[in-house]
Amino acid sequence: MDVSTLVASVTSAAELAKLLVNERDRQKAAAIEGQLTDKITQAQIQLSQVLGTVIEKDGLIQTLTERVRELEAQQSEKSRYRLAKLGTLGDFFAYKLRPAAELVERADEPAHFICQPCFDISKQKSVLRIQGLWCYCTNCKARTQIRPAPPRKSSSSNSYTRW
Ligand SMILES: [Zn+2]
Repeated sequence: MDVSTLVASVTSAAELAKLLVNERDRQKAAAIEGQLTDKITQAQIQLSQVLGTVIEKDGLIQTLTERVRELEAQQSEKSRYRLAKLGTLGDFFAYKLRPAAELVERADEPAHFICQPCFDISKQKSVLRIQGLWCYCTNCKARTQIRPAPPRKSSSSNSYTRW
């Protein structure tokens, strides 16, 4: 609904009201009164449509404001990390917490990595668990070997006997 249409209806109703006040002929006055009633009814309908649009847009503004806040928070969280290679086997990258000197807040957090796909795609921060040669994400269940296995000892160096 266009606000200018509502304004035109109200203006037209106001002009009819002026005519009605100044009209001395009863028949003409009755005709003007009928037109005025129609215009007022039209303006009321248009006003309710305008209000409906305003309420709808207000809801949209609130939704968008919330989304902007979410994105700002995500961006702020992401700025605390940088993409870094994890481990020495292949090319496995994860977000590494920046050094304490570069952090604006929560600078006392211990060094850690977070899962890149979880953070970028699912928008979830999942700290990677590193155990020995392997790295795990408890959120997406990804399990990646990040270090090569130590070379196997030859049988001659074994100090025990295999059966
Ligand atoms: Zn993950």
